[in-house]
Amino acid sequence: MITDLNRPSDKDLSRLASLLGDRITRDEPIGPYTTYRVGGSASLFMRAMSVEDLHAVSRALEKVRVPVLMLGRGSNMLVSDAGFRGLAIALGPFAEQILLPQPGQEPVLSVGAMASLPIVARQSVAAGLRGFEWAVGVPGSIGGAVRMNAGGHGADMIASLLSVRLFHLQRNIEANVSAANLGLRFRASDLGDEHVVLAATLRLAWGDKAEGESRIAEIVKWRRDHQPGGQNAGSVFVNPVSGASSAGALIDNLGLRGYRIGTAVISEKHANFFQADEGGNADDVVELMTFVRQRVSEAHGIELRSEIRLVGFSSVVAADAGAQTSTERRRDTQLEAAFGSSNTTDLSIPIPSYSEQLSEDVLAELADAFEGDATPTMNLKVVRPADTSGDTPQPEEPSTTSLTLKTNNGRVVIVDDDLRLPIDVDNPIDEQTSSVNVAPTSDPSNVIPESRLSSRRNQIAQKLNANRRRLVRGVFAVIGVLALVLGVLASPIIGVRTIQIEGARYMSADLLIAVEKSLNGKSILTVDTNSAARRLEGDPWVESVRIKQFFPTRLVIEIVERKPIAFYVGVDNRSRVVDAQGRVLAVETGQPTQYLQITGVGPNLAPGASAGTVYKAAAQLAGGLPEEIEDKVLNVGVGGPNQLLMTLRSGTLINFGPPNELQNKLVSLVVLLRRQDPRQIISIDLTDPRTPTVKSK
Ligand SMILES: Cc1cc2nc3c(=O)[nH]c(=O)nc-3n(C[C@H](O)[C@H](O)[C@H](O)COP(=O)(O)OP(=O)(O)OC[C@H]3O[C@@H](n4cnc5c(N)ncnc54)[C@H](O)[C@@H]3O)c2cc1C
Repeated sequence: MITDLNRPSDKDLSRLASLLGDRITRDEPIGPYTTYRVGGSASLFMRAMSVEDLHAVSRALEKVRVPVLMLGRGSNMLVSDAGFRGLAIALGPFAEQILLPQPGQEPVLSVGAMASLPIVARQSVAAGLRGFEWAVGVPGSIGGAVRMNAGGHGADMIASLLSVRLFHLQRNIEANVSAANLGLRFRASDLGDEHVVLAATLRLAWGDKAEGESRIAEIVKWRRDHQPGGQNAGSVFVNPVSGASSAGALIDNLGLRGYRIGTAVISEKHANFFQADEGGNADDVVELMTFVRQRVSEAHGIELRSEIRLVGFSSVVAADAGAQTSTERRRDTQLEAAFGSSNTTDLSIPIPSYSEQLSEDVLAELADAFEGDATPTMNLKVVRPADTSGDTPQPEEPSTTSLTLKTNNGRVVIVDDDLRLPIDVDNPIDEQTSSVNVAPTSDPSNVIPESRLSSRRNQIAQKLNANRRRLVRGVFAVIGVLALVLGVLASPIIGVRTIQIEGARYMSADLLIAVEKSLNGKSILTVDTNSAARRLEGDPWVESVRIKQFFPTRLVIEIVERKPIAFYVGVDNRSRVVDAQGRVLAVETGQPTQYLQITGVGPNLAPGASAGTVYKAAAQLAGGLPEEIEDKVLNVGVGGPNQLLMTLRSGTLINFGPPNELQNKLVSLVVLLRRQDPRQIISIDLTDPRTPTVKSK
């Protein structure tokens, strides 16, 4: 099949890269992602860590169109030396899960797209299933096998595939599509670059484990005897006509075993396997393919068709080498019509729900750890105004103002205490204010004689002078006291000389020294402990600071630091140490293995920043492990924005599902591990903590 050769401009590539931010690496060599291990780089590369990353790609592709290439395990792909001009996507560990049924259950498996075929084959046999042994010698992924309808030894994907979980990059939707709608045919399907296989559901049959194991051994031996190792992508050409001569036989008949062009050579062991030398190049392989096709065409009149996907070659080169053209893919297929409409296969394997009581200790530990659950759905209380019965603020008392009503001889006067002058204290309110709002009167008794008026004026003037003198004396007294206080404060007798620090372990020593310096020598009475505490609280490790002053010269700085719980590795490959709230405390180059690891590749956060919901929940999970199971846990993990995982030291994989109900899920886990030795358990699904599903060995 020929890759979409619409060459995107540099501008489009840059735009897509900036839309996808730090999810993207540029000019990533993708040759090493293939079993041929030759070829160039992808202009843009993303390892999707979750389906959310694919949604982000979809949204970005709506704005700028760029060819997309899904990479599986690269065992059916040859990348040109010029590389791939577009966005190459590989799925991360979230797509590697293998969920096997228990004996007595439907023999149905759910397998992530990146799960390796040989591992699925071996695990299914170990679980007593038969029907997938053929895949043990096919070094690809489930996703690649679905798209190519891989097969061998008389079987192929069609034989067992029930449905696939697909993400549609153009339509930005995810759906289960039944196998019947995938257009599966010999080494091909209707899946295009817009269809991302996320997982597959396979129906096998219960069988005899020993028989399965001997079949596996037989297949492995046959492969070793008949196929070469080294750098290749399996059969190069599709067998032309079923039942007639194989492509290998046609090439062999021409005596081409061992034929070499540059760094590419036809295998001596199998004429349809073309090997690349170590450090070789893809263009030699494609040239060899073109040469062989020509020879077979001339000798037998048969046009061989490439089984290998040729990536990044010009359409002419790819067509000469026998690549399918994209028009060979069926258009407007059932696949598009059926997308999202088929039913989901229910894979849950319920076990009886737990009834044992947990000890008070475990419950107390859990309650403590999850008091402030980091996950958004927990402990979230929406308080509407009507709910606030107890807390409803009472209607405010009318504030007491200085405005009062007084009567003066039956007349209403308005008295504003705030506006009264200090000198008025000697005079009754009514006298002072009686002139306010008093209507002019014609009553002669109200007329005051001139002699009384002038003696009154003198009295007032004397009082005013006396008041002024008192005021001046008071001001000088205050200034004197202030000067004395300042003198004492500035005196070295009460300057800070001893600073005692408690609780600092991880925080920056430089910051501590700087703050100490800023406090040293300051008066114990006036030293600004608040701003010093705020400075220290700026350190990501510091949760709170209290500075106590002890007269005459001692300060005690009490520091409460955050507790490092776990670490995750960011996209930049540097470790982020986080606390139980998912707050990044430090960024380190190595792996601080003294803490629990949160697997998965997380965001490149700086110290002080808080991780997103799922990492927060993973940190909380790591910090909330009851003592009873703490030693059994190897790591916690993030499988996507909605999936928390945990691996036990026994190898048991635990799917916590979405990051909610963590306390209940842990309760469920503790109960399960009390019942059953984890060494006997392959996996536990706690998505619904009330009905956990357990896959035992
Ligand atoms: C030594 C050897 C032996 C082999 N024997 C056999 C054999 O017996 N039978 C056989 O059929 N094949 C065989 N192959 C070829 C190959 O292993 C299979 O085709 C395999 O299924 C490809 O899977 P992959 O993950 O490596 O796909 P890749 O090579 O990575 O990709 C193949 C195609 O699938 C697409 N793709 C990959 N992942 C996804 C996804 N998640 N969603 C959507 N599209 C995706 C890619 O874009 C590409 O178009 C052999 C290869 C080797 C090296």
